[in-house]
Amino acid sequence: MSFEGLAEVLGKAERLLLAHSLCDYCLGRQFSSLCYGAGNDERGRALKLILTMWSLIRYRESGETPEILRRLASTGFGPAVKTLQALGEVPPKQSPCYICGGALTRRRMEEVAEKAAEELREYEFRNLLVGAKVPADVREREDELRAAFSIDTGEDIKEDITRGVGSALQRRFKVPVEYQNPDIVVLVDIFSGTYELQVNPLFIKGLYRKLQKNIPQTPWYCRYCWGRGCGRCNYTGREYPGSVSELIGEPALKLFEALSYKFHGAGREDVDATVTGTGRPFILELKHPRKRFVDLTLLEKIVNEDARGKVEISNLEYSSRRELRILKNLSPIASKTYEAVVEFDGDVDEGALRQVMEMFRDLVINQRTPRRVLRRRADKIRQKKVYYVEAEKLGDRVVKFRIKAQGGLYIKELIDGDEGRTEPNIAEVLGRRPLKIDLSVIEVEYPGTRG
Ligand SMILES: [Zn+2]
Ligand SMILES: [Zn+2]
Repeated sequence: MSFEGLAEVLGKAERLLLAHSLCDYCLGRQFSSLCYGAGNDERGRALKLILTMWSLIRYRESGETPEILRRLASTGFGPAVKTLQALGEVPPKQSPCYICGGALTRRRMEEVAEKAAEELREYEFRNLLVGAKVPADVREREDELRAAFSIDTGEDIKEDITRGVGSALQRRFKVPVEYQNPDIVVLVDIFSGTYELQVNPLFIKGLYRKLQKNIPQTPWYCRYCWGRGCGRCNYTGREYPGSVSELIGEPALKLFEALSYKFHGAGREDVDATVTGTGRPFILELKHPRKRFVDLTLLEKIVNEDARGKVEISNLEYSSRRELRILKNLSPIASKTYEAVVEFDGDVDEGALRQVMEMFRDLVINQRTPRRVLRRRADKIRQKKVYYVEAEKLGDRVVKFRIKAQGGLYIKELIDGDEGRTEPNIAEVLGRRPLKIDLSVIEVEYPGTRG
């Protein structure tokens, strides 16, 4: 039997300790990859214990106290202190760990964990992740030491901290560690004894219907005062009171005890258009929520009662950041079906109406940014497809259209032509000018999905 490899490890540990005072964690961490299922503090203690025994063997052979025994005692290692005393020597003063300065102790990790746990008790979460902040000078000392002693069996100091604080929190909360998408990240700084909670947002998806006109999807601020309040807006700061976003977001904010929210619609309708039929998909992002296990039927009930007659939500489900990305990417290619009741400035010819239905079938429309949105959108020509237009006369001058088009096509302008900026357009074919357009979205459809 040969202990050659082991002798090398022990030799390295001895040289490290002769050069620097190292705590159990910081010594053990240099040899992390040499065994599994043990903490670095255990590994460090094991090495220190063997070196203490080896010291005594050498003492008995030579009659001299090896220097390593004094160095071991100066790291505060109990068995070395006792052994040294047994040899009649006064143990040297304890010097702090060269790498961590003494911050890495089980007690310190427990203390930070307990502080964080106190705040964590106010939150609902299914899983956790512990992260660690390490000062640059600590990293530098460890890097230099590893280079000087050719250490290639070590691991990152973060691992010690996250393992220590992580297991202390695990004992208290019994939730799994989640690396990909944790509900809460506890970022600890063991060196200053502080921590920070990063509470990840919660996502809820659903469908909304807008039953009343003149409700913008998101708050529409007064164009004169931009929300501060002025005489023009009656000191409300708004162009329109309320919004779909607030009617859904505010009750959710209270229910989930969140700090703020963000409303993401799958596209948006005009402020004076309603959304009927299946409704428009949305995802509500709640930031820093304290509650995560709320029954969504309760949210649905509260919103639908508070916003009665204005907005109605349905099909609520918990969602994710991934689904939000999909929603955002799909919006431009989603197709939408609209219903428009249009009153024209004169009688509408049946033949011309049939011509509209034949012509606007899988037709590409060249649409220059409508004048009414020029303030918000770049002036350019977009090409969007109309899938079909169905028309039904409700009176001599009144027509009900059902229009299915690619997301992003402005429907009002498809009908009235926007003074030639949208080509071709329905008004041109009919030879009539629309006086009033009543628009509502009745369905939003994604490729491969419905809803
Ligand atoms: Zn240390
Ligand atoms: Zn104002």
